[in-house]
Amino acid sequence: MMEKLSTEQLKRCDDIKANYETIINNIALAAKQSGRKPEDITLLAATKTVEPVFINYAISLGLKFIGENKVQELLSKYEEYDLNNADLHFIGHLQTNKVRQLVGKVSMIQSVDSFRLAKEISNRSAQNDVITDILIEVNIGREENKSGVLPEDLNKLIEEISPLGSLRVKGLMSVPPICDSKKEISEYFDQMYKIFVDISSKTSDNINMDILSMGMSEDYKEAILSGANMVRVGSALFGTRIYR
Ligand SMILES: *Cc1c(COP(=O)(O)O)cnc(C)c1O
Repeated sequence: MMEKLSTEQLKRCDDIKANYETIINNIALAAKQSGRKPEDITLLAATKTVEPVFINYAISLGLKFIGENKVQELLSKYEEYDLNNADLHFIGHLQTNKVRQLVGKVSMIQSVDSFRLAKEISNRSAQNDVITDILIEVNIGREENKSGVLPEDLNKLIEEISPLGSLRVKGLMSVPPICDSKKEISEYFDQMYKIFVDISSKTSDNINMDILSMGMSEDYKEAILSGANMVRVGSALFGTRIYR
């Protein structure tokens, strides 16, 4: 099924395989250290800049979730993803006017941070006769230039979104600030976990707090130790990103 690969591409596949095994082992270890089972943690590969041939190779190793962060890039690669064997999520900042291009193509949008965006996702999903799962993105570091709802506005946003018919809130997502130490990043992860547990205890009809998506290549182990059950890993799996 796979096209013939160059020596260079085969070498990259070897690296991806070794990286994948390392990540799976690290996830299993962190899961156990936090009193959970390896299978309680979902690995999502962040696939920006990565060609579909390598994404599909990772899927052939057992990877079940992939995520893109730009609509244009997702659409240009869409036909090539092996979506019989993996789920596609959208994980980047999303403009309302691009929602219609995504709905029906992705099984989850992880980066919803306004009612306006949620309403558009629900409307477009209704038109397409699908239900779209979403996560609410939280700006835990209160960074001005970052997407995400502020922690104090989260309850209100969830209440507003709850009546929308064609989407389902599945949990929370966060991209904490760049930190100098593991200790500092863990504090953000701990804050997120606290918010996650807090919201879980008072969920309404349409809301399910199943997923806490946080942690990337540099800090997915810390994120799991703080309670993440989905990590989004890019460069640790595919190698350093080359932007063309
Ligand atoms: C790129 C990206 C990641 C993964 O980043 P790495 O540091 O390469 O692991 C995770 N989440 C989002 C939203 C991203 O855009």
